[in-house]
Amino acid sequence: MGDELVVLGGGESGTGAALLAKAKGIKVFLSDCGTIKSGYCDELKKAGVEFESGKHSEKRILNALEVVKSPGIPEHAPLIKKIRQKGIPIISEIEFAGRFSKAKMIGITGSNGKTTTATWTYHMIKKGGKDVRLAGNIGTSLARHLISSDPELFVLELSSFQLEDMYDFKCDVAVITNLSPDHLDRYDYRFEKYVDAKFRILNNHDKQSVFIYNAHDQEIMKRMGDMQYPGIRYPFALSDVYGQGACVEYEQMVIKTLENRVTFPLNQLALSGKHNICNGMAASLAALSVDTPIQAVIEGLKDFDGVEHRLESVDEVNGVLYINDSKATNVDSVWYALESMDKPVVWIAGGTDKGNDYTLLEDLAGQKVKTLICLGVDNRKLISAFTGKIPEIVETRSMADAVSVAQKQSKPGDVVLLSPACASFDLFKNYEHRGKLFKEEVYKLKNQYE
Ligand code: ADP
Repeated sequence: MGDELVVLGGGESGTGAALLAKAKGIKVFLSDCGTIKSGYCDELKKAGVEFESGKHSEKRILNALEVVKSPGIPEHAPLIKKIRQKGIPIISEIEFAGRFSKAKMIGITGSNGKTTTATWTYHMIKKGGKDVRLAGNIGTSLARHLISSDPELFVLELSSFQLEDMYDFKCDVAVITNLSPDHLDRYDYRFEKYVDAKFRILNNHDKQSVFIYNAHDQEIMKRMGDMQYPGIRYPFALSDVYGQGACVEYEQMVIKTLENRVTFPLNQLALSGKHNICNGMAASLAALSVDTPIQAVIEGLKDFDGVEHRLESVDEVNGVLYINDSKATNVDSVWYALESMDKPVVWIAGGTDKGNDYTLLEDLAGQKVKTLICLGVDNRKLISAFTGKIPEIVETRSMADAVSVAQKQSKPGDVVLLSPACASFDLFKNYEHRGKLFKEEVYKLKNQYE
């Protein structure tokens, strides 16, 4: 076995890990069988990190002391199997970076609501005056943050892929927002395996650790019933949470931790939708668990701006509100989006199907949607699911078309909602690109009316 750390994957987390290793005086080599963005190449060169792209030099990699695997590389990749066979430890970027931090860690995972909850938690803690940073699956990697300094606290958004290769890392406060089937192709189509990965967020928990979880989630509750959790539990749900935790009572959010009791009127909550009541409760519990002042939590519940592409109100044009929910790439998230609408909806949906079962949406869509605008290369499944349930269904092939049809189909007092239930790769680069184009079209419309 050699003395080199090998980093597999040259995206944000891989590059961050390699730069951190170099800064800490560790011998490091980065390998990516695809292309590495030119910005990352420049940084690696500047720091003097040896790297390769377009191939994996197996001999060198199989001589590593330890391997940092980027979350995009699946466990069943042939190279990963070989590394495991040789007994070389494989860890995630978070596990590696965590070795260089003394900060308190708040880890947030779940199937939906991770980014919103993590950003909201960060917003409250920052408002409370602490030296906190947001990292993980969002923007800057944990490793990159740690190159220059170590703050007091990190809020980390953690995907199941990142959690898979975490062993000694400890989240002092762990949050699971909810669990529904997602990414099952990476888990042999076994939901239990995906849930196992998510529960690794509780690794190394002890009496002082805090676990914040959705008490109405069957899968989470099943697991909790089967385990002896050693730490402090804060369940949250829209109703029926007794003792510590958070729930809704008489139109108020009630949040109870060991030290605090906070009540907050729901009509002042910054974001709409039941799912955002849950996200707000989880964020408040997490912020209070690290001693954020109550006032900062209350203000944060009121003035959080939300996150781009998640039920984002874009603008009102001619009395019609346009909402960008491009990040809603599965059926579950669209259910929450439709559920939160209190005006007639012109719904733009479609894209790359991920094995969607639309039956879950039939009732809600039937009640709330007046027109479905399909925006995808292949819309057959959407059309057959909603024919006879939604009065009008129109097919479009571009965002410009979709927004123009939406404008014609809507009247003052309606909402135009982009909430696709599908991935974006058939017509767009990613969900951000789809959301940005939607917003551009809305702004163009707005200009026509002014
Ligand atoms: P993630 O980071 O887990 O993908 P986001 O916060 O980015 O979650 O939200 C993605 C989509 O999921 C949003 O468009 C929203 O409609 C929906 N969503 C957000 N929070 C929840 C929740 N708690 N439960 C169900 N759906 C949610």
